[in-house]
Amino acid sequence: MSGFSTTAIHHGYDPRDHHGALVPPVYQSATFTFASAAEGGRCFAGEENGYIYTRISNPTLALLESRMAALEGGAAAIAFGSGMGAITATLWTLLRPGDEIVVDKTVYGCTFAFLHHGLGQFGVRVTHVDLTDPVAVERALAGKPKVVYFESPANPNMRLVDIAAVTAAAHRVGARVVVDNTYCSPYLQQPLALGADVVVHSATKYISGHGDVTAGIAVAADMEVAERIRLQGLKDMTGAVLSPQDAALLMRGLKTLALRMDRHCANAMAVARVLQAHPVVAEVHYPGLESDPQHALAKRQMRQPGGMIAFELRGGIDAGMRFIDALRMVACAVSLGDAESLAQHPASMTHSTYTPGERQAAGISDGLIRLSAGLEDTADLVADIEQALQAVQSARPACARPELQAMVPA
Ligand SMILES: *Cc1c(COP(=O)(O)O)cnc(C)c1O
Repeated sequence: MSGFSTTAIHHGYDPRDHHGALVPPVYQSATFTFASAAEGGRCFAGEENGYIYTRISNPTLALLESRMAALEGGAAAIAFGSGMGAITATLWTLLRPGDEIVVDKTVYGCTFAFLHHGLGQFGVRVTHVDLTDPVAVERALAGKPKVVYFESPANPNMRLVDIAAVTAAAHRVGARVVVDNTYCSPYLQQPLALGADVVVHSATKYISGHGDVTAGIAVAADMEVAERIRLQGLKDMTGAVLSPQDAALLMRGLKTLALRMDRHCANAMAVARVLQAHPVVAEVHYPGLESDPQHALAKRQMRQPGGMIAFELRGGIDAGMRFIDALRMVACAVSLGDAESLAQHPASMTHSTYTPGERQAAGISDGLIRLSAGLEDTADLVADIEQALQAVQSARPACARPELQAMVPA
């Protein structure tokens, strides 16, 4: 068994099969030719392996897929043109009208929208539950859902779900478990090893790592499930195929994934410590901090605590907007996992269409900031965060005494 980076760099490719080319060629072809009608017929019947059309499969996509399956420890992977492509194709494949899906109360905004505007309209019952509460989990599973779906850590508030515990409980009632592993990448966490059935990724984020591709990946523990996701969810129901060029960019990203994740994690840890000590910060959600209530769970199921941080500023929406506007190096942008550090303020940006009550129910406070720690020098990142916190503090009335700040209405 090779190590993680060796697999990410070499798995499934021998230059001698490709004129010695060190880097795998890009098969920029939409369709594939057959030697005869009979050979074409055998390929369509599944009696012979062969490429037919890139929306079904393509050699460049196949290499990426085999690497992702190896890195996640799955039977097979399917590449998509976006994370939402992977998520929607997987769930359209696994669910039928009348089925129920149990979903954690905090999920990525477009996943939430798909569940309610997509699946919900087609007769699938969607039940949101706090999957960190074992009593709520048992109660929800009593209804015998077909699928349990969650992110860990969740976007945007960094809550972790105990993957092994929830998966074991779900399997007792026959539900399949789908985990969005975008925040971790397979380097930090492998949900299939903890029992999950399908892992989905927005490969737009850490797997690409350079902010220049939108892509998604689904990895299934079971070959039959993977084939159904490819032939129903990808080929027929969404058509959300990845382009071969973008697959090549993802494979370039994979080569440095472990190195990048180590740096993202180190930068996030340094920023989390600065945030924790600052009087305008009410709370830091980063499982690397010993004081974080989910620190022990993070140590059990993650290699390192990750490059994402959520934190709550005292002063609500105004403080959040002031912080974002004061940043000089860190960019104000959604997305995550890029070389550039990115910050966003859900209450004024991604979740501004929610009512304050809806945001509260989803666990998103008005002063919450989501930060994706990039790959810049730690000192420069920390300095930018510190000066932006200072700008929030200077704008506050009677801000000299932190114990009084907590009493200023938010
Ligand atoms: C970005 C993101 C998605 C959606 O992925 P796209 O590539 O933007 O379609 C899904 N889940 C999580 C956790 C994300 O951060």
